[in-house]
Amino acid sequence: SGYHRVLEENRKLYNEVQDLKGSIRVYCRVRPFFPGQRNQFSAVENIEDETITVSIPSRNGKGQRSFNFNKVFGSSATQAEVFLDMQPLIRSVLDGYNVCIFAYGQTGSGKTYTMTGPKEITEKSQGVNYRALSDLFMIADQRKDTFHYDVYVQMIEIYNEQVRDLLVTDGTNRRLEIRSSSHKGLSVPDASLVSVSSTFDVIDLMNLGHRNRAVGATALNDRSSRSHSCLTVHVQGRDLTSGATTRGCMHLVDLAGSERVDKSEATGDRLKEAQHINKSLSALGDVIASLAHKNSHVPYRNSKLTQLLQDSLGGQAKTLMFVHISPESDAIGETISTLKFAERVATVELGAARVNK
Ligand code: ADP
Repeated sequence: SGYHRVLEENRKLYNEVQDLKGSIRVYCRVRPFFPGQRNQFSAVENIEDETITVSIPSRNGKGQRSFNFNKVFGSSATQAEVFLDMQPLIRSVLDGYNVCIFAYGQTGSGKTYTMTGPKEITEKSQGVNYRALSDLFMIADQRKDTFHYDVYVQMIEIYNEQVRDLLVTDGTNRRLEIRSSSHKGLSVPDASLVSVSSTFDVIDLMNLGHRNRAVGATALNDRSSRSHSCLTVHVQGRDLTSGATTRGCMHLVDLAGSERVDKSEATGDRLKEAQHINKSLSALGDVIASLAHKNSHVPYRNSKLTQLLQDSLGGQAKTLMFVHISPESDAIGETISTLKFAERVATVELGAARVNK
């Protein structure tokens, strides 16, 4: 019967959720070459389920280096395949868990493609943001005889350590404050909080957010690659029989480009942006590393990004760091530094366990 199906579904979800609790997972995805780029050398030598091997130019010929993660997606992985692996994590939000998913990588490596999709989005090319919300609505509907869910969305941008609301309709671009642990469980209580109940609502809101994010961008200075954008989904659930409530939230974060900016070339605004980005990405790496090390002090206060996510990183929350790399051999410098960042985030737990032995 329908009731038993729901129970069975809940039990399956519960088991999947237990596996993921408090965990930090790291995925890697390689962007395909652009059309017309086919004769280029690839820096990626080999991809297996959990291992990526890249070639490293060295003085005496060509070296190789392998990195291990929870999952590696090659350039032919589809949006649907990528989403499938993230699904249990996303579904756990309905059971009251907090989830953070980060897209990390140099500009042009495919972060926005994974999280949102390409410029012209079709059903097949929809990214994680759309799929996650459709999935939440679908499960909420399956459970509607036993649970009632309310879903709210916020979308904010962090640019030069300033927080702005991306869901404003009047073109205002006011700065907002992060106030951690307010009674409503909102880190940015003054940002627009919009109730959504269908995929159509979500598409409209994302379009609004993307229009607002583009404000101030010029061809030379594409602001979207120098700011972090964060789509936050708040889910409140109520058990229709017992009246018990749950509250979960999910942050889907498209990070600023991780590329190192040549200090000798960057000046003025460009240098300031680069310094803010470096600072916040390393603050994020430090927070995740201290969580994995189970350090007593976690340095959340070192950046706006980590302050924003303080309640959703650590504890029972689940984190997915999704790193992106470009395949071109001339991007190898950035590729290695991305993979090293990811490796630091991924392997500290193993390192800590070894020390304890
Ligand atoms: P980023 O957000 O890291 O700056 P983008 O997501 O904008 O990078 O990707 C750069 C370009 O590559 C875009 O035109 C995007 O559509 C394309 N692209 C990225 N990843 C893929 C992929 N997996 N499959 C097809 N095209 C992709």
